[in-house]
Amino acid sequence: MDVMVKFFLLLSWKNKLITIKKRLKKNNMSNIDKKTTKTDPIIEFDAVIVGAGFAGMYMLHRLRNMGLSVLVLEAGSDVGGTWYWNRYPGARCDVESMQYSYQFSEELQQEWEWTERYATQPEILRYVDHVAERFDLRRDIKFNTRVIAAVFDDNKNRWIIKTTDEVYLANYCIMATGCLSAANKPNFAGQDDFRGEIYHTGNWPHEGVDFKGKRVAIIGTGSSAIQSIPVIAEQARQLTIFQRTANYAVPAHNRPLDPEVVRNIKAEYADFRARAKLTPTGNFFDIGGTSAMVASEDEREREYEARWQAGGLQFLAAYADLMFDSEANKTVANFVRKKIREIVNDPQDAELLVPKNIIGCKRLCVDTDYFATYNKDNVSLVDISATPIEFFTENGVSVDDKIYEVDIIVSATGFDAMTGALLKIDICGSKGLSLQKKWTEGPKAYLGLALAGFPNMFIITGPGSPSVISNMLPAIEQHVNWITDCVGYMQNQGYGRIEAEEEAEETWVAHVGEVAGLSLRSTCNSWYVGANVPGKPRVYMPYIGGVPAYAEKCRQVAQGSYEGFKIS
Ligand code: NAP
Repeated sequence: MDVMVKFFLLLSWKNKLITIKKRLKKNNMSNIDKKTTKTDPIIEFDAVIVGAGFAGMYMLHRLRNMGLSVLVLEAGSDVGGTWYWNRYPGARCDVESMQYSYQFSEELQQEWEWTERYATQPEILRYVDHVAERFDLRRDIKFNTRVIAAVFDDNKNRWIIKTTDEVYLANYCIMATGCLSAANKPNFAGQDDFRGEIYHTGNWPHEGVDFKGKRVAIIGTGSSAIQSIPVIAEQARQLTIFQRTANYAVPAHNRPLDPEVVRNIKAEYADFRARAKLTPTGNFFDIGGTSAMVASEDEREREYEARWQAGGLQFLAAYADLMFDSEANKTVANFVRKKIREIVNDPQDAELLVPKNIIGCKRLCVDTDYFATYNKDNVSLVDISATPIEFFTENGVSVDDKIYEVDIIVSATGFDAMTGALLKIDICGSKGLSLQKKWTEGPKAYLGLALAGFPNMFIITGPGSPSVISNMLPAIEQHVNWITDCVGYMQNQGYGRIEAEEEAEETWVAHVGEVAGLSLRSTCNSWYVGANVPGKPRVYMPYIGGVPAYAEKCRQVAQGSYEGFKIS
């Protein structure tokens, strides 16, 4: 959209505001009858937060406790964010539940009882429901409301935020839109011709899908597919998996939580959380030796085997050089390849399922019976690495001149990660600068938190912060705490406008790129670099310098009176 169009859009919003000005008052959502679809627009808030997942919920809690008027706008009909949308069969978190939970309230973390080592999606939704009730969050969340645009008003130093049918004003606009929330839906030729059902794992119907007796296709073999394939295979008559790139997965060894382990963690939860924050990914992992290359072959095998038996993502914490030294990486990749060949009976399938690339470059998956599922008679694998899906027909999927007839197609094709949800909103900062334009060559953000040219806007776990390569819950809490302190500072000092300096942003973005270049993580076609979305600029988006270094940098910036920000 060009600048003039934006200008007129802004004008039309302003006119609309004048007509409703008489009703303008500071208020909160408690006064709105949320059951009615047409509400009186309560248009002015100290802060508007976009998204009611873990990030938006905690942000609301913190800012409201400071006495600010806050409104959360959420497209879904309830809280939960990614866990609200990702309801596919087998969905569960691959970070252990005792660590994938809020820590801001000691009472909350003491009273909540997780049942399994890895929580299922329904259990996580029960948890977010409990949090929403406990802290009375829903009264300030407007559900079924999608934000379509946000424009910064330079004269008033505030944001004009537009939903499908309302306009809001806010001094601060805080994006809690999630890193993996905009579904990546490849546009397969002929998809409208297909007479069966098509679903995306990241946008799963609330009423569920009945696979019983059906012929099902799954496209993709990332984490979502790897979790859902074994469950769908139990129900479907025939399951055909279309694999473009083979993926590494390690066993979850999920189990009910041992009450004694829970008691021990809860007895020193704060200390446990503090120790997790000292690790590179913010997870309390059993961190192994410094170098796989220094260990003997026997030692390495014992270490990898012990971790394989223990299960989970800490498999890759066996040695500190696994993600930095390609020879070290090969040792652990070969271990997993050997395991896959042992599990999968059909040698041809086994070879197709053995990944050829760097392990951990794409996100490591955590599975329950994934590879063993290929031994079932009703499961088959189609390699589309050299011959992509050509088109959908009325009754199936065409690859290499062959039609695979199916009743249901499940797209487990992932997300337009980190930037997709933000770029779907028409965001326009100071002096007409659009986010689309700013990010033409890839995302740029100061500390992954703020954007030069976009005053009074914060992003929770944005590109350039550890976010997706760390434990998301503590990452969210660290950002929310930082933003809360920053807003508090602004209030106390009587300031009205804060904006990242371009130079500080450039320096940070260069540092993020430099650190990424040191790691093997940036060397493959992963969603971390935007490779899964055609045309997306290739930039390694998360910050991999480690959670402790990142948190220290954020602390220093705040302590230095928000160094790298222009404040007035
Ligand atoms: P993903 O990792 O991006 O996997 C998408 C899959 O679809 C890949 O196998 C990809 O192949 C394939 N694909 C994409 N476009 C395709 C096309 N046009 N034709 C054929 N195949 C195509 O997505 P995801 O599995 O949804 O996972 C995304 C992230 O969400 C994970 O990495 C993880 O961070 C998070 N997640 C976490 C959990 C958990 O906590 N348990 C569960 C699910 C997801 P290529 O590899 O060749 O691109």
